[in-house]
Amino acid sequence: MTYSVAASHAKGKCATDKIFGANAAAAKAAAQYGKNKVVNATIGAFMDEQERLACIPTVEKVFKNFSINHIIPYAPIAGLPDYLAAMIELTFADHKPEAYIDAVATAGGTGAIHHTIWNYSEIGDMILTSDWYWGPYKILCQDALRTLDTYTLFDDQQKFNIGAFSAKVREIIAKQNNLVIIINTPAHNPTGFSLSDSDWDQVLDLFKDCVKDTTKHIIPLIDIAYIDYAGEKNACRSFLKKFGNLPANILPILACSMSKGFTMYGQRTGVMIGISSNKEIITEFQSINQFTSRATWSNINYSAMKLLADIYQDKSLLAQTEQERGEYYALIRKRADIFMREAQEVNLHILPYIAGFFITVPVENPEAVCEKLHDDHIFAVPLAKGIRIAVCAVTSEKMTGMAGKFAKAIQAV
Ligand code: PLP
Repeated sequence: MTYSVAASHAKGKCATDKIFGANAAAAKAAAQYGKNKVVNATIGAFMDEQERLACIPTVEKVFKNFSINHIIPYAPIAGLPDYLAAMIELTFADHKPEAYIDAVATAGGTGAIHHTIWNYSEIGDMILTSDWYWGPYKILCQDALRTLDTYTLFDDQQKFNIGAFSAKVREIIAKQNNLVIIINTPAHNPTGFSLSDSDWDQVLDLFKDCVKDTTKHIIPLIDIAYIDYAGEKNACRSFLKKFGNLPANILPILACSMSKGFTMYGQRTGVMIGISSNKEIITEFQSINQFTSRATWSNINYSAMKLLADIYQDKSLLAQTEQERGEYYALIRKRADIFMREAQEVNLHILPYIAGFFITVPVENPEAVCEKLHDDHIFAVPLAKGIRIAVCAVTSEKMTGMAGKFAKAIQAV
């Protein structure tokens, strides 16, 4: 064993990030062979057709106009009130549920996930998510001394596997009183899948049945990091209305982020929104999560919150922002459509993509296939059971022909 002075719970912690590793390999190849010859499908950020990291122009304009006094101040720990109000309105659009609702500012969507795990499960508890999941969920659980368990996301028809989901929920809730379930929808990372409204009806019926035993609490943590790239604004938000009038021992929490929707990735600004039929649950939500913010990062980025509040309050700025983001969404769609069409032509199986930044190709030996793709200067992220392609980051031109190269690489290994 190596020499260590870490506390027992901290020994051996080491987060090797496959995404940043694959991105570094792509950068190295670009330096060697020229950027034009390399396809970097690793990056989880929208790159324009010139392969530049894109910032929504109105966001950039508002941000650059800030005076220093709008950049450096401390913010209230719970978040700027105008920001919280704007985030609530933007998140629900026309589908605000019948419920008590409140919000606490967090350091990105990640911060919302962190607080929910910490404040709504016990040390040692299981947290549940699908077998295809964003890697940091596991790190967040481990660091908080919880364990991440998974259910099989898709059934034989490539639909939401309500059977596998129900079995896991019932198994875990039989053993512990609180169950945090992370559901990344719409436009799931890494598959691009979204639960339909009827999937949600089944999920909520299951939850209602489980919490008839009033000692049990279910906390669905809905990670909506990609909701602004998931389809028509109100259509992809219709499920949110279903969170109204639920039993008080079901507490949906939305993890929202400005990273993708406002192209503010590194500004670390998000919000957690609690939804309950019981006022006391929401008062408690506000209080305990604000407390954890104080204990974790204190307050978050003032200028990003101010930016969002300013854009929201000026309807023409908001319309412009939404229109510009719509153009990014259309480009991502176009790239995904190229890949999906070609995948069908070459019989390449992909997981059910509906929208979002990523498409996943399931394969048995992801590392070897990724390695083989390097022959064609294609860099993607190997997952446990597949390969993730960042359609947000690959230009339409480079996307063309890529599915065929995937099929060839899979055959070769
Ligand atoms: N959830 C998912 C699935 C993500 O992919 C990301 C970012 O990549 C996030 C949440 C949160 O991002 P951030 O903490 O930057 O808001």
